[in-house]
Amino acid sequence: TGLRIINFSAGPGLMPVSVLAEAGQSMASFSQGHGLMELSHRGKAFEAVLAETEADFRQLLAIPDGYSVLFMQGGATLQFSTVALNLVGADADAKCDYIVSGAWSAKAAEEAERLLGKERVNVVVSTKKSKHNGDIPALDQWKFSQKQAYVFYCDNETVHGVEFGNKFPFDAIPSNVPLICDMSSNILSGAIDVSKYGLIFAGAQKNMGPAGITVVIIRDDLLSPSRKCTTQPIPQLLDYNTYSTSQSMHNTPPTFPIYMCGLVFKWLKTEIGGLDQMSAINTAKSTALYNAIDGSNGFYVCPVSKAYRSRMNVCFLVNPKSPDAAALEKRFLAEAEAKGMVQLAGHRSVGGVRASLYNAMTLENVEILVAFMKEFQARV
Ligand code: PMP
Repeated sequence: TGLRIINFSAGPGLMPVSVLAEAGQSMASFSQGHGLMELSHRGKAFEAVLAETEADFRQLLAIPDGYSVLFMQGGATLQFSTVALNLVGADADAKCDYIVSGAWSAKAAEEAERLLGKERVNVVVSTKKSKHNGDIPALDQWKFSQKQAYVFYCDNETVHGVEFGNKFPFDAIPSNVPLICDMSSNILSGAIDVSKYGLIFAGAQKNMGPAGITVVIIRDDLLSPSRKCTTQPIPQLLDYNTYSTSQSMHNTPPTFPIYMCGLVFKWLKTEIGGLDQMSAINTAKSTALYNAIDGSNGFYVCPVSKAYRSRMNVCFLVNPKSPDAAALEKRFLAEAEAKGMVQLAGHRSVGGVRASLYNAMTLENVEILVAFMKEFQARV
């Protein structure tokens, strides 16, 4: 990768070099003397980009018929609001059930409470007391509502490094209750069964493309007006139907981010070979790092319970029992940076070290981090 640094950022994250190179070429010239960003969104050239981007995304995730793919803006945070407004339904007795396993699902539940009122929102389970360390209580302690408008969870908690993946208790969700999932930081990290979900959303800036676009997969029956909030009007651009009826072209879509996502999808299909291959690489990367942490005799400590450790965001502490742990962590981060490994500081709310290993991170670069960790431990 020549002069490029090794970027462990939690997002916006690194992107495949081949994608950046191709995008660079498209800046000045993409079609008939236009750069990509200069194309009319209603013109044939961009229409083709949009259609291909959606088709590749559908193919990668094997999205079944009966689901729409929407390209929206406002980040994953806006989805905390749109989910609540579009899916709460008219039945005042039905509650929106939230599973809180980290900072992002907590924020989603808060926004639903703010928009709908506390009485419409139920926190099924929360790991707040254990500082979101992945100690997910047993299912018999989850308190689902009697009447559920939907169930919401975040598959990968980016700040705390907690991931459900296929350990999510899908069977606990009645088949007539829509399951809503924030997959912002692990979408396309492996295959999933979309048919288990009513709605999946993901901000692009970790595993798909640049910031500025959010992809929504919604089962078509959830577009029914009967699902919407009836106590307040929904702004046009916050209504999923506005996007589903216009192929995300009611107004000017984020053309450049859509194009970039399209390039990443092509990279996943052709250079990686699909999501099963991507998943195997992601497991190899995170296993290498967790093994290094767990094999360090307590010098490095991952605070997340083993069953729910994230493949995407690996959080750990540097010799936390040492009296000068804070100084040691600072030195670790500074020395890593001097060696070209950047953005390793944990989220400002939790501290520690966090290595984000999104799809574009290579195993080779994770091994460089592991080698540095071993060398650092031996030396200090
Ligand atoms: N959900 C998750 C899981 C995230 O990681 C993030 C961003 N880091 C968000 C939501 C919020 O995304 P945005 O900044 O795009 O609104």
